[in-house]
Amino acid sequence: MILSTHAIVGTIIATTFTSNPYIAFSIGFASHFILDPIPHWDYKLHSFKKDLEGKLNHDMVLGKTFIVDLMRVGTDAMLGMIISFIIALYVLKVSTLQVILASVIGGILPDPLQFVYWKTRSKLLLPLQKFHTWIHGRSLDIHPIYGVPLQILVVLVFLSVSLIIKK
Ligand SMILES: [Zn+2]
Repeated sequence: MILSTHAIVGTIIATTFTSNPYIAFSIGFASHFILDPIPHWDYKLHSFKKDLEGKLNHDMVLGKTFIVDLMRVGTDAMLGMIISFIIALYVLKVSTLQVILASVIGGILPDPLQFVYWKTRSKLLLPLQKFHTWIHGRSLDIHPIYGVPLQILVVLVFLSVSLIIKK
């Protein structure tokens, strides 16, 4: 899933169940792994270096293309944050900004942590990286023509369920 979807759905799920920022962060973080196995489309990262021998050996090359990737990822995350705030404040009527922010950060965080793993090969992050790679591998790659509407649909499904629960 793209970061926007992770941020928005993370916010929807977390704010449905809690108004505590720490719990919201944890729910947001967990929601990342509920979304990743759903068949989806991801935009290509040009600096991404795939290792066919082992998924744990993937890497990102720090160069010109990385800057471009960083800008795209940043725009994606920013857009996700803005839409999350709009939905949480005006549709779900969440009253505290910290809860929304914590949910957004929790929902997105697993992906930057992959980057940290690729760059540090930290043993601390290894179990999470293995789990993330495994669960993401459960999903199918989908053509963007279906992939984008599907992510919007995923958001709408979670939003509808949340509104029903909150009623
Ligand atoms: Zn992920």
